[in-house]
Amino acid sequence: MKRRTFIKNTAASGMACALPPIFPNFYGPDYTTEELMGKAEIELFGEGINLREEAYTSFLEMKKAAYSDGFDIKMVSSFRDYYHQQRIWERKYLKYTQESGMSPFDAIEKIIEYSTIPGTSRHHWGTDIDIIDGFPQASGDVLVPEKFGAGGPYEGLKLWLDENSTKYGFYLVYTDNPRRRGFKYEPWHYSYAPISIPMLTAYRKLNVLKLLQEERFLGIEHFTAGFIKTYVQDNILDINPVLL
Ligand SMILES: [Zn+2]
Repeated sequence: MKRRTFIKNTAASGMACALPPIFPNFYGPDYTTEELMGKAEIELFGEGINLREEAYTSFLEMKKAAYSDGFDIKMVSSFRDYYHQQRIWERKYLKYTQESGMSPFDAIEKIIEYSTIPGTSRHHWGTDIDIIDGFPQASGDVLVPEKFGAGGPYEGLKLWLDENSTKYGFYLVYTDNPRRRGFKYEPWHYSYAPISIPMLTAYRKLNVLKLLQEERFLGIEHFTAGFIKTYVQDNILDINPVLL
């Protein structure tokens, strides 16, 4: 009896790949365009943490483990909605074009060294975090690569994360691989892979060019189709390959 059940299950799972999905969620949950672009109200967990439930639970476990090893993981940024990203984008756009006198094209290139176009941020998903160590004293901007490198205040935490973050499902997104294009090295930005991988898969099915053409924010009139295509290739997809 047991053997028959076993054979039956094996046969069924063997066939599953070739058949259309039986349940809508068979290949992972569906995400709406609004949700993927940071325009939906999603349920977030943890005061000052603001992540999807599973990512939140895992983050707390990681934080606890780090704490017992002498690091105080502090959240600098997690979920940001579309409108928050729009404010960041427009503040930088105005600063570079008006205060620094850059051309719109140069300003946009400068912004996308570290900041995303509204509607394209992984921070819209409730899975990605920017973190530092709350214990050491640090002055000025905290999210700069040098602070996580040799002799920097967050070097210890970075080494700990290199060793341990994947045990909790968190992976570095913008690695220091010199051949990687798109966003620069961000040693502070981690992503909860069990949710962000299916979300990126869903995101890749969107027509980003068409969606952005419907948006209105400062500088968008300077986006060409070629620019958006390169941006998707380099800034959205040229990341740590484990997260694809
Ligand atoms: Zn980030």
